[in-house]
Amino acid sequence: MPSFVISEKCDGCKGGDKTACMYICPNDLMVLEPNAMKAYNQEPDQCWECFSCVKICPTQAIEVRGYADFVPLGSSIMPMMGTEDVMWTCKFRNGLIKRFKFPIRTTPEGQANAYADLKGKDLESPLLSTQEADGVTLPTPAV
Ligand code: SF4
Ligand code: SF4
Repeated sequence: MPSFVISEKCDGCKGGDKTACMYICPNDLMVLEPNAMKAYNQEPDQCWECFSCVKICPTQAIEVRGYADFVPLGSSIMPMMGTEDVMWTCKFRNGLIKRFKFPIRTTPEGQANAYADLKGKDLESPLLSTQEADGVTLPTPAV
């Protein structure tokens, strides 16, 4: 089920230029209604249910119903992001609450270097970074 905003919890990210959920959604689905200062998913059919907006929302105002392969049917699931880990709170249909904590990083916050393994590579080259300039055999196009 696509993401939905619990309007009572949403504070419109306190009126910033771009809300956290608008910033993070890979499909540009979240928009802010400027008068009410509430965000909403403008096209639920296009939601990938990736949980990115759920994780980043500072007020835990967004929910996505979890699939049965990772939480029991009928339960609700809510992540709480920390700097080192994410805590998932799962509320079962019978009211039972369980929490699971998982680490989310192997390098200190703000120090991950996406280019560390590409030292010396020509990033302007049309080749993939894993391809060598010599001895590359391109696949023959199917006829
Ligand atoms: S991130 Fe949360 S609080 Fe901020 S606008 Fe989106 S739903 Fe509202
Ligand atoms: S769950 Fe993912 S695709 Fe759906 S609105 Fe949130 S960020 Fe966008």
